[in-house]
Amino acid sequence: MDASRHPGTALDPAIAARARAVRLLSCDVDGVLTDGRIYVDDEGRETKAFHALDGVGFRRLRAAGVDVAWITGSASASVAHRARALGIVHLLRGTEDKLPAWERLRAGLGIAAEACAHIGDDLPDVPLLAACGLAASVPDAPDEVKRHAHYVTRRAGGRGAARELAELILAARAAR
Ligand SMILES: [Mg+2]
Repeated sequence: MDASRHPGTALDPAIAARARAVRLLSCDVDGVLTDGRIYVDDEGRETKAFHALDGVGFRRLRAAGVDVAWITGSASASVAHRARALGIVHLLRGTEDKLPAWERLRAGLGIAAEACAHIGDDLPDVPLLAACGLAASVPDAPDEVKRHAHYVTRRAGGRGAARELAELILAARAAR
């Protein structure tokens, strides 16, 4: 992989320019904020593991004036609990068709598609990755998804991938 796609090395100026414009970051949940594994207990309840690094990243983004949204096909209660704990107000859950939900959200917030970033790891994310200004994915995503990403994180989903993207956006905004 091209080292210039990772922060800490010389960031591709085209990616920095895209990141600098971001006012809304939307995140897929399964495979991005988690490692994609879904634990199901004997009662059929789902649990997932989130990473604390991402929570701080979202807080830092909001402090810098960047809105954060989670967009997921999952209707799992664990997602709602974690979102509430982190103060994520834009939670679009049980949304199989992510693009129209995202369009309504960003239009409601008055944010142009070019000023939106999305990070996702699977095919339902592709229409959104193709529509937003900064498209990101994770190392374990299928190639047909990563092909649509301007930036692939070094960290894996559920291991701080969203934090890495948040820091990239914050660094780009601070540099202007
Ligand atoms: Mg996913």
